[in-house]
Amino acid sequence: MGSGSNGTTLEKMPTIKFTKLFINGEFVDSVSGKTFETIDPRNGSVLAKIAEGDKNDVDLAVKAARAGFDHGPWPRLSGYERGRIMTKFADLIEQNVEELATLESLDAGKLFSWNKMFDIPGQAATLRYYAGAADKIHGDVLKMSRELQAYTLLEPIGVVGHIIPWNFPSTMFFAKVSPALAAGCTMIIKPAEQTPLTALFYAHLAKLAGIPVGVLNVVTGFGPTAGAAISSHVDIDMVSFTGSTEVGREIMKAAAMSNLKPVSLELGGKSPLIIFDDADIEMASDLALMGILFNKGEICVASSRVYVQEGIYDEFVKKLVEKAKAWVVGDPFDPQVRQGPQVDKTQFDKILSYIEHGKREGGTLLTGGKRIGNEGYYIEPTIFADVKEDMLIVKDEIFGPVMALMKFKTIEEGITRANNSKYGLAAGIVTKDLNVANTVSRSIRAGIIWINCYFAFDRDCPYGGYKMSGFGRDFGLEALHKYLQVKSVVTPIYNSPWL
Ligand code: NAD
Repeated sequence: MGSGSNGTTLEKMPTIKFTKLFINGEFVDSVSGKTFETIDPRNGSVLAKIAEGDKNDVDLAVKAARAGFDHGPWPRLSGYERGRIMTKFADLIEQNVEELATLESLDAGKLFSWNKMFDIPGQAATLRYYAGAADKIHGDVLKMSRELQAYTLLEPIGVVGHIIPWNFPSTMFFAKVSPALAAGCTMIIKPAEQTPLTALFYAHLAKLAGIPVGVLNVVTGFGPTAGAAISSHVDIDMVSFTGSTEVGREIMKAAAMSNLKPVSLELGGKSPLIIFDDADIEMASDLALMGILFNKGEICVASSRVYVQEGIYDEFVKKLVEKAKAWVVGDPFDPQVRQGPQVDKTQFDKILSYIEHGKREGGTLLTGGKRIGNEGYYIEPTIFADVKEDMLIVKDEIFGPVMALMKFKTIEEGITRANNSKYGLAAGIVTKDLNVANTVSRSIRAGIIWINCYFAFDRDCPYGGYKMSGFGRDFGLEALHKYLQVKSVVTPIYNSPWL
């Protein structure tokens, strides 16, 4: 494996305890009895056989969630009480960090040390953030014209269907579930077929925490069957989706053609990082590298297009390539490793075929471009220079450790080229000039802009796309409002002493 790795690996495979669907408070087999395999991307071996849900199982889950919403206690509890139970759920996550972090690394190839220190404890923090908001949901009082007064109620939107991807299985799960729980909704969540393990464990913890029956249902299975059954279900009141732009389009169509349910779509990206001549090259090269290699490039906000101003281009490239060559790829359980395997063979093959395409299109490969080893789905950090905006590797989301590096002259050129994408999820700017940072951050059409930092996330910071990166926001109080709807109640006020 990559140089620098000391060969450490997981000593003992954990027992995988939860492999069935979680419906109406119980772990159950799928109606069809079918299962599918989830694999370990370090070597392609089977980790577990998971119940394969489809339309029939989604129907059962929706029935449970509908009953939970229409007649159950959850939407009727006080916000304080919901928050108290959510806090208990958060405590249970913290008591199981080691096991959850292990499952996440095995299923998704994510770094164990990062899961253990940040990702899994971060889910408890997200739950607590929304638990604290649950008793602060309120509408307004409006003084209308004439002798009328109105007040607004913020009511839970109802039964929510969440469909999530595989790149951040835990983060995506809690980005969706936590605000929806705080709002008083009931829900069905479908994890990605590549990474079902932690979602099922969270269902178990939710039950232990006292989340009532029917409130949180987990249906594992495939997109065209289980996923499509969610987006087209007439008894689901809203769909919250994170995944590719292509599937987002399908979800929106299905929602429109069934019951016109609202959808929120967090989709793909091809995010620019713009580095100006006055940048600290050390810092800029670190950000650029981390921006594309963190989570092996399987991150929707990866800095996959890097624009460097011409004055520092050559020096920047030298530093960047040096650092990329020293980047350690290997077993995600090895603490020296900074990049694990791609999630599965499909993703691995897709990335390698984009690399071949980049070579054919005339891009210069500065480093990387090959698989590492002959087992598992490891790919070298890969940097292309001499690329043009109309090349596939510059236009398409590759979702892997592949950077397209470009040179620009003026601020205006940098802005125009950064905006030259159908996507608008994130962007980064590296400069010491406050005026440049302000102009560029306001000119880029993207949902989040990082100035002299990258991947700076927190649960209170709303996050989502412009353009074909979708609409609606996860995180922050914006996400809570996505699961609420506004009702206006109007009443006449007679004999008021003033109008
Ligand atoms: P995907 O769109 O293939 O799958 C996402 C989810 O949708 C999975 O659970 C899948 O089973 C389901 N699905 C697939 N087809 C479906 C259908 N016809 N109907 C309903 N559900 C269906 O995406 P992926 O490959 O799992 O994830 C990678 C994509 O997710 C990338 O494009 C990435 O940018 C995007 N992503 C976006 C964000 C964001 O916040 N904007 C975050 C993470 C990932």
